[in-house]
Order: sequence, then structure tokens, then C-alpha cells
Amino acid sequence: MLNRNVETFIGCDNSYDEAEFVLFGVSFDSTASFRPGARFAPKAMRAESFGIETYSPYRDMDLEDIKIFDAGDPELCIGDANIALSQIEGFTAEILQGQKRPVMIGGEHLVTLGAVRSLVKKYPDLHIVHFDAHADLRDDYLGAKLSHATVMRRAWDLTGDGRIYQFGVRSGDRSELAWSGGHVHTQKFNFDGLDETVKKLKGKPVYFTLDLDVLDPSIFPGTGTPEAGGVSFNELLAALNLLSPLSIVGFDMVELCPACDRSGTSTAVACKLLRELLMIFK
Ligand code: MN
Ligand code: MN
Repeated sequence: MLNRNVETFIGCDNSYDEAEFVLFGVSFDSTASFRPGARFAPKAMRAESFGIETYSPYRDMDLEDIKIFDAGDPELCIGDANIALSQIEGFTAEILQGQKRPVMIGGEHLVTLGAVRSLVKKYPDLHIVHFDAHADLRDDYLGAKLSHATVMRRAWDLTGDGRIYQFGVRSGDRSELAWSGGHVHTQKFNFDGLDETVKKLKGKPVYFTLDLDVLDPSIFPGTGTPEAGGVSFNELLAALNLLSPLSIVGFDMVELCPACDRSGTSTAVACKLLRELLMIFK
């Protein structure tokens, strides 16, 4: 029997009404400070996802066991960050209104701010767990308040002190890393202390944002600003598993730039991580 061609992420073909998670792609990379191309990540991931299994031997679980609706890549204003962020805020609000959890595939990291703007309205006590090679805490980047280099500072504008927890950070300028002390918890280089953070945040509403460049470029070269000295895939997976007791109200995965890795390996890595995250947060 022939059906209409609709390409979803593998195993994410439930109807909207029955879905617990709503997945959507945000093909936005207008503030990328170095190599652009993250806007093509959602489509590349959907195509590459058919190279992995829906079953996870790590968790003995199948994506088919989880109700997930893939909303595709809603149309977005690529050239204007302000407009794009309000649109992302709107998509997220619609998902939250339906009592479902948003799962966003970037795109560059600024897109996180759109989701966070919407989530803090519903959850005023929102906390954020952030894995990244970069602190993303600049107050502006070359004069721009809205940039993938300022995204966590803009999130802090909304949450205030003590509610953002970063791990794996190994890049930033002197002043932004100095600013983080007292405002944001920044764990440099690795995931030390993540288990204590999870204990502390248990029961609180938590948004999780995964900037894939936290991985070492040897396993994940397909990103706009690769930063040597990152964690291995297995270290990242172990850290993600630690997050399972948290009350995750939404999450995202950003900064895959498929064209930066012509082998396709980085896209396949991102697909496997998305599969695992959907299971960990189920
Ligand atoms: Mn980032
Ligand atoms: Mn980064």
C-alpha cells in the first residue's frame, strides 16, 4: 500500500493527540559566530535516523514504546533573531498548552531562549541544566545581545541566580567565566558534581539543553565551533543517564552542523543521543 511521503525521526510517528513528547526542528543559525549550517540539522537527523535502531540495548526500551509526535520544522523567520525567538516561544507555548513536553532540535544554541521564555511562564521556578563546551554567558557578542554566545546569559535574565547548572565548559572569555561565579554554577571540563546537582534539583521543573559540541571533536567534528578537550560519547551517555530522576519539562539538542562532517558520523551520533534522551526522560 502506498502512503503519502512523510519523513519523521525514526519511531516518532504517533498522532499529536496521543503524544507525550512533541518534537520539532528549528532550522535557524543566523547568529552562528563561525561556521554556519546548523539550520540543516533537523532534516539531516530525520534522514540519518533510519541508520539506527528504534530499540536501545542500553535501556531495553524501544522508541515505539513512547508516544512521540514529530511536528517537522515549523516555518521560521531565519533572518531576524527577535522574530524567530517569538515564533519558537509560540510553538513551545502551544505544546505546553496541550500538556505535552517540547523536544527541540536546533539549529544553533540561541533557539533555546525561545523555549525557555515560554517555559518560565508556565514554570516560574524553572531550573536549567546545560552541557556545552562554551559558557555562552557573554552579555553581548560584538554588540549583539541575542547570539548563540549570549544565550545562557539571556536565560539567566529570566531565571536569576543559582538556577543554571553548566557542565563540560572549556571555552569562554575571562570576563564571562569570572561573571559565572556567584550567578551560575559552571563545572569546567567534565561532569564532576552532576550527581549532587541532580539530588538538589529533584522535584523541581528542569529544562535540559545539550550543545553537542560538549563532545570531543574527534567523535563530533560536525559543529560550527569545535573545541578540543571534550568528553567521550560514553562519558556523555553516562552523564545523561544521571539526569533520569529529574522532572524534565522539555529539552533540546543544538549545534549539529551536518555539512561540517561529510562522513555523516556526527549526525548519526546526534540521532543516537536523541533516541537515548527520549527514553531517559520518558
Ligand atoms: Mn552553546
Ligand atoms: Mn558550544
